[in-house]
Amino acid sequence: MVDRRGTPVGASSLPWGGPGARHAPLAFHPAMHRHPEPPPLTTDSAVFLDIDGTLLEFAPAPDQVKVTTKVFTLLTSLATKLNGAVALVTGRAIADVDRLFPELRMPVSGQHGCERRTASGYRHVHASPAEATDRLRVAMHSLAAEHPGLMLEDKGITLALHYRRVPHLAAFVHRAVREMLAPAVAGGAGLQLLTGKMIVEVKPVGRHKGAAILEYMDEAPFAGRTPVFVGDDDTDEHGFHAIHARNGWSVKVGPGATSAEYRLADVSAVLAWLTAFDKRSRAALPHNA
Ligand SMILES: [Mg+2]
Repeated sequence: MVDRRGTPVGASSLPWGGPGARHAPLAFHPAMHRHPEPPPLTTDSAVFLDIDGTLLEFAPAPDQVKVTTKVFTLLTSLATKLNGAVALVTGRAIADVDRLFPELRMPVSGQHGCERRTASGYRHVHASPAEATDRLRVAMHSLAAEHPGLMLEDKGITLALHYRRVPHLAAFVHRAVREMLAPAVAGGAGLQLLTGKMIVEVKPVGRHKGAAILEYMDEAPFAGRTPVFVGDDDTDEHGFHAIHARNGWSVKVGPGATSAEYRLADVSAVLAWLTAFDKRSRAALPHNA
């Protein structure tokens, strides 16, 4: 399978990969485990962006992240340049994203694909096992109350325990939540564990960021464009797989094993890469536009 540029999908993760470089010899190269930076975005891209660790730096708690004017302006401008084909794809709840970006009502997939706002403003909410989730809510709340520094983020459909402020409790928290979830899993409740950076979550089976991206790609204004997904966490790997299935570009932010084709070093690098496209496409506009 090849992408729109004629590059075999997956092959450009090699150091000689990327547009125009596919005739290089397939020999061992000490840098072959590295991922190149992504090519410049084009006006045919459909851009899907994770938030925390991708667009915004992490903070001790999710409600403490800082949204800069630069990010807000950039997202607004990108949406214009790409005819609205920009979506935020996050583990946060949509209501929380709207609190972060109060002036921005763009497409958002929240709670790892469990809820999704389309470009036309329609909000899909996927069914979840409410009873089992309620039981886990009580248990996880008690756990957080017993251990100062732990923080339960109740997003409605999904429940997340953050241990960023008490990283020494990582193993304990993982084990405790897994044990809490075990009866629900054994009973076929349709819930599963999801682990990310300093976070353990419980979410419905079958929903993830990749599912949301595929749904967007069947809708205007995303359909027919080359999908690009940028994310920093293990939970974004589902999104990368969906991107590969649609012949798009997957971009991992920061270090760590990944199935993504490309890599950007950090939040600053993501913003610089998006800004470069924004400036270039602005310069390409007719003077009277
Ligand atoms: Mg993230």
